[in-house]
Amino acid sequence: TFDADFLVRWLAAVAEAVDREADRLTELDSAIGDADHGANLRRGFAAVTETLAKDPPATPGAVLTAAGRQLISTVGGASGPLYGTLLRRTGKTLGDDERVTRERLAEALGSGVAAVSQLGGAQVGDKTMIDALVPAVEGLRGSFGAARAAAEEGALATVPLRARKGRASYLGERSVGHQDPGATSSALLFAALDEIAR
Ligand code: ADP
Ligand code: MG
Ligand code: MG
Repeated sequence: TFDADFLVRWLAAVAEAVDREADRLTELDSAIGDADHGANLRRGFAAVTETLAKDPPATPGAVLTAAGRQLISTVGGASGPLYGTLLRRTGKTLGDDERVTRERLAEALGSGVAAVSQLGGAQVGDKTMIDALVPAVEGLRGSFGAARAAAEEGALATVPLRARKGRASYLGERSVGHQDPGATSSALLFAALDEIAR
């Protein structure tokens, strides 16, 4: 089972991955968006790491809720409220248990992804972060490695799609042939989770 510190270490690993991959995320967003996805997430997850270090919450649920709140207040772009909602709803679903199992985390993330889908109106196939998040959560029911692989596959599968939500949708057919930045950053979340779970 996993405690609050595990969740803190997960988000710190996400912040590191986002920092390392920020240029690539921004490059992807410059092709079909407004070239700020790397900067948006870098700012957001740096603030999350700082908040959690300053005042570490006692339960896994409280860690995710605090992180989500921080993302919503720090990130101006669409991805801030969406990732913020993902973490906040997941945290609320976890409640105040001191330790959680992988299965329970998968179930809670499932409710988080459903909240993202409700907020943004996107389904699988719309070329958004949902295309990585939905298979990742499904994979997490099996293992951390399966979640990581499914998220990466989901992100790659956005390349031939036409965007139906977010800024990329303004491009219509011209969004085809590019990997979605948000699906790519979602894959980073699950790669980081797999790394720290080892
Ligand atoms: P912005 O588009 O406001 O500049 P970002 O560049 O930070 O925000 O994030 C863009 C990403 O957000 C997209 O690549 C996509 O994955 C995701 N996204 C945008 N709109 C939606 C939506 N309605 N539902 C789900 N994900 C979305
Ligand atoms: Mg953008
Ligand atoms: Mg923007």
